[in-house]
Order: sequence, then C-alpha cells, then structure tokens
Amino acid sequence: LDREEPNYFGAGPALLPTSVLQQAAKDLINYDNIGIGAGEISHRSKAGTSIIDQTKNSIKELLNVPDTHEVFFLQGGGTTGFSSIVANLSAAYIKKHQKIGTPYYVIDGTWSKKSFEEAERLGFNPKVIVNSKEIDGKFGTIPSVDKWNIPKNLDDISFIYYCDNETVNGVEFREFPFDKFPNVEIVADMSSNFLSKPVDVSKYGLIFAGAQKNVGVSGVSIYIIKKSLLQQASADELKKLGQHVVPIAFDYPTVVNNNSAYNTIPTFTVHIVNLVLKNLIEKGGLKAQEAENIEKSNLLYSILDKYPTVFNMPVEKSARSRMNIVFTIKDGSLDNEFIKEAENAKLSGLKGHRSVGGMRASLYNAVTLKSTKLLCEFVEDFAKKHQ
Ligand code: PLP
Repeated sequence: LDREEPNYFGAGPALLPTSVLQQAAKDLINYDNIGIGAGEISHRSKAGTSIIDQTKNSIKELLNVPDTHEVFFLQGGGTTGFSSIVANLSAAYIKKHQKIGTPYYVIDGTWSKKSFEEAERLGFNPKVIVNSKEIDGKFGTIPSVDKWNIPKNLDDISFIYYCDNETVNGVEFREFPFDKFPNVEIVADMSSNFLSKPVDVSKYGLIFAGAQKNVGVSGVSIYIIKKSLLQQASADELKKLGQHVVPIAFDYPTVVNNNSAYNTIPTFTVHIVNLVLKNLIEKGGLKAQEAENIEKSNLLYSILDKYPTVFNMPVEKSARSRMNIVFTIKDGSLDNEFIKEAENAKLSGLKGHRSVGGMRASLYNAVTLKSTKLLCEFVEDFAKKHQ
C-alpha cells in the first residue's frame, strides 16, 4: 500500500496525507481488530458510535469548541448545507421571535452566490447585504463593511451568511466584521478552509464544511452549531406560517438528538475525517497548521508577484486566499503549455475553475512545504522563459 508522494494541487476532492490513507485502507478491511471494516459496522454499534464520538471530540479539541456549541455530521456536502441551513435557521428564528425573519447573504464569490440562489429558489426571500461583484466589478475583493447595505433593524435578520473562503475565486476573509452585528447569528461556509487556522467558534451561530478539502473525502459534512439554534419552530407552527418544514434527515435538532446517526451516516467516511484530525493534532494543531499555510501561500504569491509581466493576480492582496491561489497567465495562449509542462514535472491539478479560467493552486493542509517549493521553482522557471 504505497504511492510516490503526489504533488497535487486540485481544489477538491483534494489531497490527503498518505499515512492517513494507508491507515484508512487497513481500517476498511479490519477496523480496530474487530474482524470487519469501518464501512461494514452499524452506525449505531459500539464501534460506530466510537468513531462518531472520537471525530466530534477531535474537532472540539482542535477548535476549542465552547459548551454553548455542538458538533454534528450530515450526509452530503456544501450544497446540501445551502438548503438545510436556511430552513433550519429560519425555523430557529421563528421559534425565538414568533415571526418570520430575513436571511442576509454576503456574496463574494461563486459559492456564496449559489447559496443565496438556493435560499431564493426555496422561497425564503433572502436579501443581499453586499455583493463584491456589484461594488468592484468582479469577485476578487471583500468590500469594507461601510459599503455594506446594513438594514436599520438588525432584529429582523434571521442570520447573516458568508463564505469564509471562496474556493473558485481565491478570496478569503481574514476576519468577519462581527462587531457590526451584535446579537445577529453569523453563518460561515468553511468548506475549503476548515481547520486551516484557529477560529473563535463562540462568535458564530453556525460553521459548516464539506469534508472533501482539508479533512477527508466527499460524502459527509461537518457542522458546529450554537445550541440555542436547535430550538426550532415545530412542523405545525411552520405550516401555519406557510413556511417550509425541514426534511427529517436534515433537521438539525433530530440529527443532534441522535448523535448524528438518525439515519445511516457514512461511518467509513467519518472515520477518514477522524484519522485526518488525529494526524493534525499530532502535527501540533491549528496554530502550527496555520503557520505552515501562511508560509506556503506567501512563497507562491511572492513568486507570482515577482513576474507581473507574466502573471495576472485577480484577487486584491488583502483578500487573498491561503488555500486557493488563483492566477492567470497574461498571454492566455500559454495556458496549455503551463499545464502540460507542470504535468511533466509531476505537478498536477493546477487548471483554474471552468468559470474563471487560468490557474488555481490549492495549498490545503495536506500539501507539503516540499510540494509547494517544487511548484514555486516550476513557476519561476516558466516565468523566466516567458517574461
Ligand atoms: N462551498 C464551498 C466553499 C466549496 O468550495 C464547495 C465545493 O467546492 C461547495 C460549497 C459545494 O460543495 P459540494 O460540491 O460538496 O456540494
């Protein structure tokens, strides 16, 4: 069970540490010496419950999750969250305020836009609090909060949703402006930067992430929710107000009350997350991981910035993602050559998202400093040839 260490920069599903996958492969056959694999055990058995509990506990440990918050898992990925979040948090708002609230969305890239559109499609009448493309003409900035369209009465806001790292556009928040929104529930999509840095969980109503970038393979998503948001209007109350009832498999209180095993959770997939988190804890936790991620992204950005006649950097410096480094080659006819030569040098997964074009190097937690340096050398050689 071996492989040559890949230098893979794909955006997702993404690279995982080889040692983790080797252990996972063994556990797929025979988990913890019980004679069957982690994908074969019941999600409610002792071993299945232990996998769920261990994974939850590692998340709590890594992020210092306070007692006010709960961790749970759901089948599906980011998009499943787009629908379930608006339904659950609207029901929580109704329970607390006895009226229908308005969800507000920060749109700073492809994924927050999609999430907003899903809330709209489902009939929750969301509003846009800021759209960076409307302000700056493109997704590549995070407009300062004085440019946001903040409603007068914050009490009417059921939640504010934003995407902490826009995977496609390479835009990442350094810090959400929490102080402008006292007592408003803030929801963050951290699908592509989850556990890449320490986060103050207490400031959030909800954090969610699909597993398949930094912490596992696809099939499961991770939620950290403020416990008070589990108090939600009942199906009957929602129907009376003409509101959607939340489908049972995505009803957060039901999922939490059943320790994430109301229905069949993909136990093996959760176990892979479990192994990734143990590895992260052994490596020194989130502070160490953040330092490494800063170092990797600084290295690559500094090489790209060094050759402004060759590369175009579409993201404003203050909003640059440490996870997804987006750049284009000024002479677009060189795109294929860049990708081909990179593949020859065993550097893969660099093609930009189809909606943006150009290149994207994803430097998730599992991408090593060594791989990053190899990429930097390649980029510099390419730039010297074409400047
Ligand atoms: N949110 C972010 C930030 C993403 O990067 C992605 C996918 O890449 C999604 C949501 C959608 O995730 P999924 O494909 O698991 O539905």
